[in-house]
Amino acid sequence: SKPCLDSIGTTIFTVMSALAAEHKAVNLGQGFPDFACDPALVDAVTQAMQAGHNQYPPMVGVPVLRQAICHKIVALHQRQYNADTEITITAGATQGIITAILAIVRAGDEVIVLEPCYDSYVPNIELAGGVAVRVPLTPGTFRPDFAKIAAAMTPRTRAIIINSPHNPSATVWSDADMQALQNMLAPTDVLLISDEVYEHMVFDGQQHQSAARFDGLAARAFIVSSFGKTYHVTGWKIGYVAAPAFLMAEFRKVHQFNVFTVNTPVQYGLAQYMANPAPYLELPAFYQRKRDLFRTGLAKTRLKLLPSEGSYFQCVDISEVSDLGEADFCQWLTREIGVAAIPLSAFYGNGFDQRVVRFCFAKQDQTLQSALQRLQKL
Ligand code: PMP
Ligand code: GLN
Repeated sequence: SKPCLDSIGTTIFTVMSALAAEHKAVNLGQGFPDFACDPALVDAVTQAMQAGHNQYPPMVGVPVLRQAICHKIVALHQRQYNADTEITITAGATQGIITAILAIVRAGDEVIVLEPCYDSYVPNIELAGGVAVRVPLTPGTFRPDFAKIAAAMTPRTRAIIINSPHNPSATVWSDADMQALQNMLAPTDVLLISDEVYEHMVFDGQQHQSAARFDGLAARAFIVSSFGKTYHVTGWKIGYVAAPAFLMAEFRKVHQFNVFTVNTPVQYGLAQYMANPAPYLELPAFYQRKRDLFRTGLAKTRLKLLPSEGSYFQCVDISEVSDLGEADFCQWLTREIGVAAIPLSAFYGNGFDQRVVRFCFAKQDQTLQSALQRLQKL
């Protein structure tokens, strides 16, 4: 018999980072910061290790971290989750997402994904025996098309996965978008997985519309977040999931048998560090400045800028610069110009090519400047 993931290759992020290293290109492909995290966070984790927090934590995460997360969600979104029954610490958002999917999706269940989407969702659904139903975001603007989403719903629809701020398009869902989703789901028992890993990176004074802000969504949602994004520590692989107790109980049954527990000292360190909200409150301004620096430079090239409302990504249209398809363009750009990017086709099931590529601007200013210098040659 065939291996069940026979159509799955190596993720684009690994492929492009390897190519960038091979060609000594400036790596604006895979999304990760190239600058240090706050030394106070490293101190907090070091102190937790020195204090002896080095054995298995409780299966669902250490209480102080779950409580800190609850405090943050109340402060930002006015919803009180129960730290004991409704929050679980995960090994990054990646494990949170697959665990939520494995907890709720059974053979033949349909899960709606909005394309382009993060590359783990569809393989996760298929691993669970489910069927991914791909609904395109509106071409060009990447806004949700609720008529199309509603048309994709069937009696077999088990869940829908959303992601705002959005990877890769950098769009942000509005209050009206979330209301529309809430109204659409109201007469159904369809569950929601809300991937909010870029929750603290929303620009131009917009508000992140967490599913936690909407009664009708929160009651059916797994909300997934990642400390890696918020605190510039993607290599620590730690995040959390918030969900109503009846869903979290199912989630934990899977969690205990795929990862069991997550790194103890990092949990204690984060709990202490989170007491100060300043680092995440300052994040929008921090990244908006980098976005603007990068966009100002790109505006001097023939790459056409798309909006970047949130996340740490900037998409550009390459059609005035090259006749290549976007995947070939990214290879060429890495080898010949020395800048790595990610083709948007990697976020679609059928390789749809709209001549758009994604850059990550979570980089030191000098890294962005050196990428821009190279991109001026286009
Ligand atoms: N979802 C999205 C949309 C992402 O961009 C990422 C970042 N890789 C993840 C999930 C996974 O996050 P983590 O690194 O915490 O597993
Ligand atoms: N989320 C990051 C991105 O989209 C990194 C993902 C990964 O390396 N798996 O680039």
